[in-house]
Amino acid sequence: MSEAKVFDATAATELVKELRGTFASGRTRSYEWRVSQLESILKLSADHEEEISDAIHSDLSKPALESIIHEIGMVKNSCKLALKELRRWMTPEKVQTTITTFPSSAEIVPEPLGVVLNISPWNYPFFLSLDPVVGAIAAGNAVVLKPSEISPTTSSLIAKLLGKYLDTSAVKVVEGAVPETNALLEQKWDKIFYTGNGRVGRIVMAAAAKHLTPVVLELGGKSPVVVDSKINLQVACRRIIAGKWGGNNGQACVSPDYIITTKEVAPKLVESLKQELERFYGKNPLESKDLSRIVNANHFDRLTKLLDDDKVSGKIVLGGEKDKSKLQIAPTLLLDVPRDSLIMTEEIFGPLLPIITVDKLEDCFDIVNSGTKPLAAYLFTSNKKLKEQFVACISAGAVVINDTTLHLAVSTLPFGGVGESGMGAYHGKFSFDAFSHKKAVLYRSFAGDVAMRYPPYTPGKLRFLKALLGGGILGLIRAILGWS
Ligand code: NAD
Repeated sequence: MSEAKVFDATAATELVKELRGTFASGRTRSYEWRVSQLESILKLSADHEEEISDAIHSDLSKPALESIIHEIGMVKNSCKLALKELRRWMTPEKVQTTITTFPSSAEIVPEPLGVVLNISPWNYPFFLSLDPVVGAIAAGNAVVLKPSEISPTTSSLIAKLLGKYLDTSAVKVVEGAVPETNALLEQKWDKIFYTGNGRVGRIVMAAAAKHLTPVVLELGGKSPVVVDSKINLQVACRRIIAGKWGGNNGQACVSPDYIITTKEVAPKLVESLKQELERFYGKNPLESKDLSRIVNANHFDRLTKLLDDDKVSGKIVLGGEKDKSKLQIAPTLLLDVPRDSLIMTEEIFGPLLPIITVDKLEDCFDIVNSGTKPLAAYLFTSNKKLKEQFVACISAGAVVINDTTLHLAVSTLPFGGVGESGMGAYHGKFSFDAFSHKKAVLYRSFAGDVAMRYPPYTPGKLRFLKALLGGGILGLIRAILGWS
């Protein structure tokens, strides 16, 4: 019986060597190559929509609607946008020059970085694997994708489909876990794009530092939802539920992690959330087909630990039911949890939603700003001043007013974190930029070669140059005419 070939550092070196050869050939730089690869991703997403959605279902029990809209649809939209805008994105941008370089012209030329690595997580296993690849290809790079071993069915389908549809001398998929990722991380890349938790983000950044490789880190954190009084509470609750449980059952990076509201609003908010949750998922949500399951037993145990913490004992006001055999946990609300409880100090990444209550809503600023900077911050209010204050004073990857998570779908907005929620951004043109170098190009002719620039540096030349730099054309004329 022949043993499966291990992907080790030697294999990784060979892989990168092959891709460097492809990139050096110049093939990936052409507009035509980029278009053909983007069209192929679009085609494979359309041809295999059902198979992809089934694979995601097998890994996460994710409802088909969520896979089709949040994963496959998002990848298709990214391809369509890149195909529509690529010529414009690739066109050098003419910029003004200054009098010191007269006569000259200048432009910013986007160039591909070279050979890039994308390491993706399990929670949106198709979208988060393919979307950065769309950006890397649009920008003209060769790329290696390392999907997550925790969503193995989708990972192997991606490997199969990319192998069949794309130029495999420029786009490779390496399946595997930590040893395979480490073998890849030992290589020199021109960029590493990593999506996942901050602990591994630190490993990725340390590995990148050895080669001075730039990184994009798409991480997570605790994204708060602040709920004011005098709002349409039903609409707010539906949107909180859609962002929390309708986004992979809380296993999403921008998922609402906790709610802050006033003591006065809290009882009405809990009541309304209960009503809407029952309307969406029925009286027994463990039976609902519209909720993803918890991805594996480790994550199930991690979430159980958050609920078993003594500090939140008696705080559950809805849910709490679990079934380990099916990896299901019901949508769970906890009221008035202490801020030093486990559930309030770790990213939840699951179907539990704690609510903390404050005397006045403005206290939310101290609470949010005393933690690490979140990937997203949400506010439900009709108060204009509060909206402005929230946008101005909360540092987060994104802020959404009167909804949750929808900023993800706006391709004109950059998507990324700040502080511990990540660095760098992508989506739309920002994806192209994330995988491009903006090369500064200055064009000069042989005319206008001023002696002032060269030694010997006389007092007259110094006077002239100071006038030129400080006073522009007028200063220059003064200097020439000898006026002080
Ligand atoms: P994961 O366990 O699938 O890990 C992500 C990737 O890192 C995988 O490809 C995995 O093989 C690799 N990896 C794991 N351990 C490693 C190690 N020791 N060394 C090298 N590579 C390793 O996914 P996860 O980290 O559980 O994903 C969930 C986290 O990701 C959450 O914190 C979530 O907020 C964050 N996330 C962020 C975004 C975003 O866009 N900002 C999107 C999704 C998830």
